[in-house]
Amino acid sequence: MSARRPVELLAAQDLSPSVRGLELRCIDGEPLLFDAGQWVDLHVETPGGAEKRAYSIASAPGMDDPARFELAVTRVDGGLVSNTIHTLGPGARLEIDGPHGFFTREATRDEPAVFVGTGTGLCPLRSMLQDALRQPPGPPLTLLFGCRTQADILWRDELEDWSRSGRVDVHVTLSRPEAGWVGRTGYVQTHVAELVATAPRPHIYICGLSRMVSEVRRVLKQELGFDRRSIHSERYD
Ligand SMILES: Cc1cc2nc3c(=O)[nH]c(=O)nc-3n(C[C@H](O)[C@H](O)[C@H](O)COP(=O)(O)OP(=O)(O)OC[C@H]3O[C@@H](n4cnc5c(N)ncnc54)[C@H](O)[C@@H]3O)c2cc1C
Repeated sequence: MSARRPVELLAAQDLSPSVRGLELRCIDGEPLLFDAGQWVDLHVETPGGAEKRAYSIASAPGMDDPARFELAVTRVDGGLVSNTIHTLGPGARLEIDGPHGFFTREATRDEPAVFVGTGTGLCPLRSMLQDALRQPPGPPLTLLFGCRTQADILWRDELEDWSRSGRVDVHVTLSRPEAGWVGRTGYVQTHVAELVATAPRPHIYICGLSRMVSEVRRVLKQELGFDRRSIHSERYD
């Protein structure tokens, strides 16, 4: 088990009606060394006592200040830790341990990739994409992001910048679109087949709640014949 490190909350802001973005910094000022896609355990004092929960790092490794990193937390109805986190403001002190996890592109950086995420499942995908975009242009990268309404689109300006740059083929699908939305609608699993139909076949990175992850994996394996070694996933529940 890795050692716990104190961190300070530098800034917190609502990214959507249910998601809070957190900007944190290791108080010792030493870099947080991690691979894009990994997560940390966040230790939080809640009304029910000390608890820890896993959160994917939403920013790329090695930023200007490598002790700094971002998380984004969905407020879960009745959830002990996520509701506590949503009350925290700048200056709050917490602890992390990690990084942890194997949901990374370290072994497949030179391969085309399709990223599929819903809600805060976008966090590790954002880290991987920010990381890739700091490198010279490489293999094709596609993002399929699903959420309920336009208000739930996380980091919308950044997604639009990626799309405009031509470096990432960005697709957003809304499960409860409001009138006037002209983009994709419905669940991510109904759009996956179209977006992965490229040659050579891409690696697929899927992140979010288990039901979505299982359904996308089923489509890829059973309907499209993807090898499980090219399907990488992280489940939040
Ligand atoms: C590897 C990993 C990475 C994770 N990264 C993130 C992240 O970047 N952002 C994030 O918001 N969460 C993330 N989670 C989920 C997080 O660890 C907590 O489970 C979540 O914050 C709920 O904790 P809680 O104490 O509020 O709820 P609890 O009281 O522990 O549980 C409430 C219920 O909510 C379910 N649940 C968990 N996550 C969600 C969700 N997003 N939406 C709806 N229901 C949920 C749980 O299965 C449980 O049944 C991650 C989980 C794992 C395993």
